[in-house]
Amino acid sequence: MLDQVEKRICEIIDEHAQEIIGFGNDIWYHAETGFKEFRTSQKLAEGLEKLGLKPRTGIGLTGVKAYLKDPETTRGLNICLMGEMDALPLPTHPDAWSETGAAHACGHNAQMTGVYGAAIALTMPEIKEKINGNITFIGVPSEEFSSDTEYKMKLIHEGKIGCGGGKSEFLRLGELDDLDICVCHHTWETKYAIVLNDSGNGFVNKSVRFIGKAAHGTSAWQGIDAWEAASLSTAAINANREISPEKDYTRIHGVITKGGNAANVIADEVRMDFSVRAKTMPAVQRASYKVDRALKASAMAVGAGIDIETIAGYLPYIPSNNVTLLKGVLEDLSNGRPVEVIDSASDPMIHSPGSTDLGELTHLMPVVQFGTAGQAGTGHGADYRIVDENLYYVETAKIFAICGYRLLKDDAAAAKDLLNGFQPALTAEGYRKYLADNQKFEHMDPVPVPSFED
Ligand SMILES: [Zn+2]
Ligand SMILES: [Zn+2]
Repeated sequence: MLDQVEKRICEIIDEHAQEIIGFGNDIWYHAETGFKEFRTSQKLAEGLEKLGLKPRTGIGLTGVKAYLKDPETTRGLNICLMGEMDALPLPTHPDAWSETGAAHACGHNAQMTGVYGAAIALTMPEIKEKINGNITFIGVPSEEFSSDTEYKMKLIHEGKIGCGGGKSEFLRLGELDDLDICVCHHTWETKYAIVLNDSGNGFVNKSVRFIGKAAHGTSAWQGIDAWEAASLSTAAINANREISPEKDYTRIHGVITKGGNAANVIADEVRMDFSVRAKTMPAVQRASYKVDRALKASAMAVGAGIDIETIAGYLPYIPSNNVTLLKGVLEDLSNGRPVEVIDSASDPMIHSPGSTDLGELTHLMPVVQFGTAGQAGTGHGADYRIVDENLYYVETAKIFAICGYRLLKDDAAAAKDLLNGFQPALTAEGYRKYLADNQKFEHMDPVPVPSFED
């Protein structure tokens, strides 16, 4: 049951519904991809500033962080309400922003709008004084590691960021070290809302460059064909799929980001990216080893050289062993609408082959993740669209706000309950070491055929 404060939180959010929807739609029509969310983060920071907060910006290039109360003088636990800011490169989407070619076909604009809407209620003096501890509002960059990786790898090589994922980057920078629990959201195909507690795959990212030698297309023997090596590699990787145990949930997929220069020029360079995913990090390492072997063998088969740069992607998602609080919040706000639950902790057969950098957070702190409806079409597809703005934005804001408040109410009993049952799989220091340990660069020179005189 909602208490008086929670009822008031809902009223405040309802009173601001049009403003919240306007905020969310503005982001929808101005979508930006990972580590390029400059307009989006500015909008979030300005919104939080107007509410009297002091957001810090530019964390991991575009990240935003603001405390409800001064962390120096506030005692108690610190609950984070976190929203992702990035969109997908999808110029064929009817609402793609012409300046970026990006569209919010994964619904991340609902997340940040939910965090902003929650801040509207929680910053009201009558509510703020009832918060027993602190709340931190965060907009994180780049959840979609695998899109525009060339840009992200360039930023990494320039030392501007250290990870492809925004939450990973926040962790690397120590920006999440002062949080106790994180509340997160994703839009979901459901009727109203859902507890999202399914285990998920981890992954490593590979940037691959096959190195050939240019020659006329009709005199291929004078060159080394990087394109042939790249073509072989997809077959070689496919030949390894059957030898991945089912329990590993191995998924390997790639993209050719540069296929050569012209049809009549033997390719001196072909670039590819791969996501190599599996259920556990040892399983990711096994798959990664096989992919490296297939890539090198394909290069060797035609005498091409190769660069393989592997970097940590995301860690597997460890489900929480306690979804009581979240389930209670969703039921109390449901007004009779159905609340769904995906929970790998109670049914280990449930597992998602996808990955998110929330996986990193689940190794370090309890994560409360919910989904809300309000969209239709295909996730990551050009037909993804918002069909119920209230559910998509406003209900999301309410759930964020109530979760934050309720975790801390009654001397933070629910937060303490979550924390008591939580065993971190990694420390923040351990995470930073894992990042370093999972970086690897391999190079092989091209090997032309020696000359055998006629
Ligand atoms: Zn996505
Ligand atoms: Zn997403």
